[in-house]
Amino acid sequence: MTTVATGRLTIDRPLPAIVGGERRPVAKTLPAVEPATGRTWAHVADCDAEVVAEAVGAAAAAFETWRTTSLAERQAVLWSIADRLTATAAEWPALLATENGRAIREAELIDVPTAAEIFRYFAGMARGIHGETIQGAPESSHVYTTRRPLGVIAAIVPWNSPLISVAHKLAPALAAGNTVVVKPSELASVSTVRFVEAIADLLPPGVVNVVTGLGASAGDALVTDPRVAKISFTGGTASARTILSRAGGALTPALMELGGKGSLVVGPDADLDTLTDDVLTGIFAANGEVCFASSRVLAHADVHDELLERVAARAERIRVGDPLDPSTQLGPLISVAHRDRVAGAVDKAVAEGVTVAAGHVVPELGGDLGGGAFYRPTVLADPDGRTSASCDEFFGPVLTVERWTDEDDAVARANAVAYGLASGVWTTDLARAHRIAARLEAGMVWVNTWFATPLGQPQGGVKASGFGREGAAETITEYQATKVVNVSLDNARPPMWD
Ligand code: NAD
Repeated sequence: MTTVATGRLTIDRPLPAIVGGERRPVAKTLPAVEPATGRTWAHVADCDAEVVAEAVGAAAAAFETWRTTSLAERQAVLWSIADRLTATAAEWPALLATENGRAIREAELIDVPTAAEIFRYFAGMARGIHGETIQGAPESSHVYTTRRPLGVIAAIVPWNSPLISVAHKLAPALAAGNTVVVKPSELASVSTVRFVEAIADLLPPGVVNVVTGLGASAGDALVTDPRVAKISFTGGTASARTILSRAGGALTPALMELGGKGSLVVGPDADLDTLTDDVLTGIFAANGEVCFASSRVLAHADVHDELLERVAARAERIRVGDPLDPSTQLGPLISVAHRDRVAGAVDKAVAEGVTVAAGHVVPELGGDLGGGAFYRPTVLADPDGRTSASCDEFFGPVLTVERWTDEDDAVARANAVAYGLASGVWTTDLARAHRIAARLEAGMVWVNTWFATPLGQPQGGVKASGFGREGAAETITEYQATKVVNVSLDNARPPMWD
């Protein structure tokens, strides 16, 4: 990797696929485009079905050995991966900021330490893997279970938090004894290839492989390969539907972490100071490109106007700019096409009746950043929650603020969306907090906070937000099958045959 005269990163030679521990050159490449400038800063392999089949074959071969490793060995490997990330922590933030526009201060504060922590968490979990004896079985038998790895895992990740997403899939899959083929997003592949190269000496060849390329070609070849034991997918709901239908032929099971439209229900008694900070974090962290984002705030009429005013005023002050500048608070969106999609979705909501309280502006940043995918933090007022801004996932820095007077109505509106990933309630009334938390249809509910995701707390959704949980003890079971052994301890049988 080189830093060019402008201070920006460039990688001169095309990045290969990683197959069986080797760098596998691929003639056809795809450009990696820097969202802040629009310039091509690297090229990645555009893998075809042949390369994908090689990667699955390498993972299948490596599984025969990796599945037999002791839990102590797996723990040591995962811990050493975390150590490697920590030791090289200074190298990742600029790469992540270049790759997907993440503000470098966030990449440093959140992405790199979180990825390392995920490996440490599952290093701990690896040692706890165990079966059970079934005590309800007759005394004439001894019945026990063991937990078996599944085989080759197809790990398909999106572009918005590539390092964290890859860690969420690799760490539990490896802890459980599986091998993996990772397919990063075509919009952010470089960090995944670099990461797997950086940990290559810590793992036997073939245990982790990477194929880059398009979803419809490399991704499709991966999910339809009958040697894949399970698909672990994070991405959009539409892609998930295609993948499930394509993988159905081979009956390949899947874990699905999909989109969201997070609703934060604010009571009349909320502490507006902390709430305002959390609302800003909930929607504008990671450029608003977060599946857990609180993209919708439903505020009680008593606090609605003041909250809207405060959030809009603070949103106008957010520093939008070069993600490589440590003072930048919000970088560009992943691409100009995505920025235009987000801006177009806001135009549509305006036509449907929302009012723009802040943003909805494409800033003129000039210089190198002139071709960047920038969009100002946007706050929309949609009091009755009747427009597309209150139900569609925009996946950008756009917050919709609604007003309510009746709690049942607020909960019904929060639940009246296709998604069910993250929701929240903000109130000092304990009974109201628990009442609303119980009624919100979501895999995760936060009370008086947002984005708190300590490892051990299951992450995942219901409804169109998917199924399966990451980041927790139960995640290990996503990558295992229970095997039962029933041992007869005597020869007595009921008289059934002459
Ligand atoms: P996407 O669905 O377009 O792509 C995700 C990955 O799937 C990419 O690697 C892509 O190449 C691959 N893919 C796409 N079509 C495929 C196919 N037919 N077969 C195989 N692979 C295919 O999503 P995106 O635009 O990269 O990410 C944004 C979406 O991801 C948003 O909806 C967001 O909410 C969601 N997301 C969810 C979570 C979560 O944990 N629930 C986390 C991050 C992002």
